[in-house]
Amino acid sequence: MCHTGEDMELMAGSSSMADMDMEFDKNVPRVCGVCGDRATGFHFNAMTCEGCKGFFRRSMKRKAVFTCPFNGECRITKDNRRHCQACRLKRCLNIGMMKEFILTDEEVQRKRDLIMKRKEEEAMKESQRPRLGEDHQKIIDILLEAHHKTYDPSYSDFTNFRPPVREFPESSAHSSSVQTQNFSSEDSLDLLDSFPDSGEPNFFSYLLFNEESNDGPPEAASSSQLSMLPHLADLVSYSIQKVVGFAKMIPGFRDLTTEDQIALLKSSAIEIIMLRSNQSFTLEDMSWTCGSNDFKYKINDVTQAGHNMELLEPLVKFQISLKKLDLHEEEHVLLMAICIVSPDRAGVQDTSLVEAIQDRLSDTLQTYIMCKHPPSLATTCIYPKMIQKLADLRSLSEEHSKQNRCLSFQPEHSMKLTPLILEIFGNEIS
Ligand SMILES: [Zn+2]
Ligand SMILES: [Zn+2]
Repeated sequence: MCHTGEDMELMAGSSSMADMDMEFDKNVPRVCGVCGDRATGFHFNAMTCEGCKGFFRRSMKRKAVFTCPFNGECRITKDNRRHCQACRLKRCLNIGMMKEFILTDEEVQRKRDLIMKRKEEEAMKESQRPRLGEDHQKIIDILLEAHHKTYDPSYSDFTNFRPPVREFPESSAHSSSVQTQNFSSEDSLDLLDSFPDSGEPNFFSYLLFNEESNDGPPEAASSSQLSMLPHLADLVSYSIQKVVGFAKMIPGFRDLTTEDQIALLKSSAIEIIMLRSNQSFTLEDMSWTCGSNDFKYKINDVTQAGHNMELLEPLVKFQISLKKLDLHEEEHVLLMAICIVSPDRAGVQDTSLVEAIQDRLSDTLQTYIMCKHPPSLATTCIYPKMIQKLADLRSLSEEHSKQNRCLSFQPEHSMKLTPLILEIFGNEIS
């Protein structure tokens, strides 16, 4: 890097903090105090043009002594400023220019070094910034494709489930629509806190236990009890199959033994269903909106599937806070994969292999966030927040299986579940 003499002057001229600060004072007229030319800022403690700045600096460095060829009272202007160095310099000193403000050669060198060093540091930082490698990108691409193959955002398959039956349309409107529709999501969240634990039937359990109504009208079969269970049981059963399909495509998952694959899926399925359902969750009315109104699920619908607020309140809060993280789809699919491949799940044999697969996924997620998710007010510490969501899911899953267990002790409900649900969640009972 080569500096011309003028560069050096510029650097030396606007050196002190006092100079810098005053450069930005809009009230100071931008006229050279020496010659009246257009000023470029404060130089050596006074507002001057570039010409007078250089003149003062050169004169001081040379320790020059000038003599006025006239009467020592020359009026310095832009045009005549070269004619009398003595009066020009006198004028410089009169308006307050000080040689103490001039950098010595060593100071100039030090300053130049500092600028160089800063540039080098920046280049170093840039080169050390984590980059999304090909292997990371490949994992992400595979997971995105896996998700797209197993999550249908049109929800068109939902018409194949046993139809949703909403037993208490009025109370449903009262507890969900009316209460939430006039409030912001924050208000709705507060309302959830005061939501009465009515002991009404529950959502996911309801989902899990409906098998009965394959023949015969659901109204007759379920009466006022768990009318949403058949539909939601089919939905959960369907979702489990999709989760299994997704898991099988996670890079490394198939390297695990069948036993470990099953152990991982059994313990994570409900958590993944909760996670992926965030895609349909809407903050506007706190519902899972899967297409038409028939497939718009509010809290009350889930209570009509056998689950109570012990599960639903934290579940909805979880959905809200996850939604507010506003994850990229890449992060969403990585989070699901990390959740599935957790070495600490019950029944896992080869924990070190599971851990290795999960580590690679976590590493991919962290690198992705560093490279592609610049921090903003809403997304600071997004990785730890995502990991916290995994912990939240554990306690949601625990509450879910607790409520499931209660349902399973009631044959009239457990018979409504699908075989897959009984198989997947069956072990939780033991
Ligand atoms: Zn001037
Ligand atoms: Zn003069």
